[in-house]
Amino acid sequence: MKKKLDVVSGGKPSRAEAEQAVRTLIEYIGENPEREGVRETPKRVVRAFDEYFQGYSLDAGEILSKTFSEVGDYDGPVLVKNIAVESRCEHHLAPFIGHAHIAYVPDGRVVGLSKLSRLVGVYASRMQTQERLTAEIAAALEKHLKPKGVAVMIEAEHFCMKLRGVGEAHAVTVTTRFGGLYKKDAAEREDFLKMVQA
Ligand SMILES: [Zn+2]
Repeated sequence: MKKKLDVVSGGKPSRAEAEQAVRTLIEYIGENPEREGVRETPKRVVRAFDEYFQGYSLDAGEILSKTFSEVGDYDGPVLVKNIAVESRCEHHLAPFIGHAHIAYVPDGRVVGLSKLSRLVGVYASRMQTQERLTAEIAAALEKHLKPKGVAVMIEAEHFCMKLRGVGEAHAVTVTTRFGGLYKKDAAEREDFLKMVQA
């Protein structure tokens, strides 16, 4: 992941160049970039891109670096459901929007619950596929938290499917990734799915 960031920041075009690129697209579709309503659009689009793709400058390790070991006798899974996912597909830059459900079985250490939604943001705010997003969230938890098990499910609607005449306005894509206990033990997986559906 780090390597990719370096490449991005290495030969990075300037903001003015990015705005010019948006202006070129506006001209390409046959619009007049000098029209009043459109004149500021390149600036706005680049600002929006800064926001959509801020994940490239965020680091999962940093977000998961603060852990707590005082969990009493608690030895069950920690599940956070319905974490908002807003990402963009790498094929069309169209949004895909939905929810993530993340569970892990701590091995003595837990993270603040809000960290899980921030972790989703780190990877969602990049050009993505839902499959990779799911895998990256699970891998980051395994790497930085070293839990006994991790389960990630994402349910999302892809606007490139909804809008591009594919005719699947209501299709929901579901992806899962299991590690550790959840990978080894079908009963653990079933527990996770039951808790997600409850
Ligand atoms: Zn797409």
